[in-house]
Amino acid sequence: MPNISPIPAFQDNYIWLITNNNHAVVVDPGTAAPVERVLAERQLTLDAILITHHHHDHTGGVEALLARWPQARVYAPAAEPMPAANGIALHDGDKVSLPELALEIEVMAVPGHTLGHIAYYAAAQDQAAPGLPLLFCGDTLFSGGCGRLFEGTPAQMHHSLGRLARLPDQTRVYCTHEYTQSNLAFCHAVEPNNPELKKYLQNVAKLRQQGVPTLPSSIGLEKAVNVFLRAHLAGVRAAAQMHQGAELNEDIEVFAALRRWKDDF
Ligand SMILES: [Zn+2]
Repeated sequence: MPNISPIPAFQDNYIWLITNNNHAVVVDPGTAAPVERVLAERQLTLDAILITHHHHDHTGGVEALLARWPQARVYAPAAEPMPAANGIALHDGDKVSLPELALEIEVMAVPGHTLGHIAYYAAAQDQAAPGLPLLFCGDTLFSGGCGRLFEGTPAQMHHSLGRLARLPDQTRVYCTHEYTQSNLAFCHAVEPNNPELKKYLQNVAKLRQQGVPTLPSSIGLEKAVNVFLRAHLAGVRAAAQMHQGAELNEDIEVFAALRRWKDDF
């Protein structure tokens, strides 16, 4: 099965590197230099690049990587500017086959952070498959948080997160930013008495002290701690209403209030 490791980039981005023997695929290379360094160190061949959305910190390294690896396939959302001349445009429900990694990936449209944002999901072919299912979700779902609404509406993001939340609990979630600790501080402000959250806060504090990534997370963990997946719960609604100073009747309104609250947190 493929091996997955983070390549740290910029302040707090992770470029996820998926390898199998000497084959490599990277997700959202915002810059090429750290990727090239790891490929050289580990004597890997870059076969493909997966892009979740058009922001520069996710696409900025594509051109330089293609100059060095002209045969690498580039996959990116159909609804956004294509970062490579021969890029393969993806729609919701499309399948991406990565035979070099023995990986079959499904494309999920998850608009909200940007309008064309996609996520890459690999289901487990059989129950025993180690490391599967897995999800590369870009800036849609973070551990303890979700992406800012730069282009989409709260309703779109709420729907996108709902789709991700319906994936199997054991799905490993590979987000592209190390925002976990600050996100959890916000979750704690909303749900100060969530025992799962308290436990996770302590684990994350320890990991960060040691400089260890908090990712991947899992869908099951996120459903237990991430308030953006918990807008349907009475306690979360009550906290959002209190902060907003108004009654919130729909889950989408609760979600929108949480997102606004977090924007100023
Ligand atoms: Zn982004």
